[in-house]
Amino acid sequence: MKTMDAKLAFAMPGTMMDVDLTIGMIFEHILRNNAEREVVSRNDDGSIFRYTYGDFGKRVAQLAHALVELGVKPGDRVASFAWNNHRHLELYYAVPMIGAVLHTTNIRLFPEQVAWVFEHAGDTLAFVDTSVAPAVAKAMATRPDFSIPFVTMGARSTELPDAYDYETLLAGKPTTFDWPQIDERSAAILCYTSATTGDPKGVAFTHRSTVLHAFAAGTVDALGIGQADTVMPVVPMFHVNAWGTPYLAPMIGAKLVMPGPKLDPASIIELVDAERVTMSLGVPTVWLAVRDELEKRDGYLPSLKNLVIGGSACPPSLFDDLKRRGIQTIHAWGMTEMSPIGTTSRLTSSLSDATPDEQRRKLLTQGRFTALVAWKLLDEAGNEVPHDGKTPGDLWVRGAAVTASYYRVGSDLPCFADGYFHTGDVCTVDEFGYMQIVDRSKDLVKSGGEWISSVDLENMLMGHPAIREAAVIGLPHEKWVERPVAVIALRDGQAVEESAVQAWLAERIAKWMVPDRVIFVEAIPRTGVGKFLKRDLRKQYESLLLPATTP
Ligand code: AMP
Repeated sequence: MKTMDAKLAFAMPGTMMDVDLTIGMIFEHILRNNAEREVVSRNDDGSIFRYTYGDFGKRVAQLAHALVELGVKPGDRVASFAWNNHRHLELYYAVPMIGAVLHTTNIRLFPEQVAWVFEHAGDTLAFVDTSVAPAVAKAMATRPDFSIPFVTMGARSTELPDAYDYETLLAGKPTTFDWPQIDERSAAILCYTSATTGDPKGVAFTHRSTVLHAFAAGTVDALGIGQADTVMPVVPMFHVNAWGTPYLAPMIGAKLVMPGPKLDPASIIELVDAERVTMSLGVPTVWLAVRDELEKRDGYLPSLKNLVIGGSACPPSLFDDLKRRGIQTIHAWGMTEMSPIGTTSRLTSSLSDATPDEQRRKLLTQGRFTALVAWKLLDEAGNEVPHDGKTPGDLWVRGAAVTASYYRVGSDLPCFADGYFHTGDVCTVDEFGYMQIVDRSKDLVKSGGEWISSVDLENMLMGHPAIREAAVIGLPHEKWVERPVAVIALRDGQAVEESAVQAWLAERIAKWMVPDRVIFVEAIPRTGVGKFLKRDLRKQYESLLLPATTP
């Protein structure tokens, strides 16, 4: 099908109603059909808050009144800086339903970046969990010339003394709201993602893309959440809408459990058990720690049937260990730019008679594309490669929930071409449609689900007086899946210790971004056109960070 031609259109009377696909539509459905189901949320102090979707709806209306009273207008951006909890869920609905845009800010960005994204997004107000207020105060201290009003959620914060208090704002407000009609193509949520270099880039989801994503991600062969499920997103609500679950689970009528700030394995195990969680979602690092804890206790989580693991490749050992404890892993791949779910690994009919080993191999791929995602796999000359499960190609995607540009950056970038978006993932696709990531063409390292820009680190390292050139690569790591390692060549006559390079970096960037190792070489291998041969470096040092295997 041609994608960029003018559309054929003819108006025939007697077709469907012109109903906008909006978050308000999901909200209304929840209240009419699922009002009795529960939302459970862990507070900052570890205590549990619990209410029904019916009561949630009343507080969403109260929050909408508070937003209007604070002067929030349609089109305004309102930031959240919060864990997965019930107040954040209320913001997910009230802000877009009054026509404003919720900017879900990543609480793991370093202070300068937090201030930068607040300003870049043009946020007029920011809602902050008290437990992370110190991070916001630190961010604002980097930019004394810039300020926005804050609302704190939880106990009052000494770090943000002038902030409004969330509960005081809601108290006494009417529990219904005269919601405005909203055009489905209006922005609803704004989420920044790391770029290979420089500042993060904003992706603005519309009402329409959010609803369509919920429907596509909700199909049985995708996330397959049912009304009887109890769903616990561990993946943060500040990272691509917790993979759509804050809209999908309530829409389906599933009970929603939100772990708040307590993401240590013991707290997760306790919450899954206490609330009888049947499905959870998150990056591998969290589940590697849960797996270790379960093995230490020889414990089981009998209610937990399905675990969606994505954001980074699921280690096969994790898949196997969880399976032994009765938990089925659904491997998922996606991107902020895709709202995010692109693929999920479920067995197709053609594999029903396959050997367990063959089935396991397919389930360990990133899976099959949802119906909302058109894709193509291209070689360097731009030709489609065979879908034989062997030939790698650059993955390009297109769809109603794929971004067409970056907020205030635009679409004049090489990653947008011919109506498709270049993912930066290098993959194979087999004859059954299973996609497997084999490499990454974007120069980023993903550690514990968070991005680190190799290029930024390299530029910083090359600013060190003793360093001539530096290449930063991501290497496999047992806990974080991937960690950065710097390969450096020193200037003539210079000498510097590995630990001194790391300490020098730690003064300039967040500690978790400092490379685990610094390797000294005479010269960094380069391609014919002078680019670092990172693929070779990754191969050469593949097992550097892994525990030594005993022969
Ligand atoms: P983000 O926008 O931060 O969610 O990152 C999206 C990127 O994370 C993708 O383009 C991949 O490079 C990587 N990614 C996401 N899910 C997976 C997965 N299941 N396996 C390997 N890489 C993944």
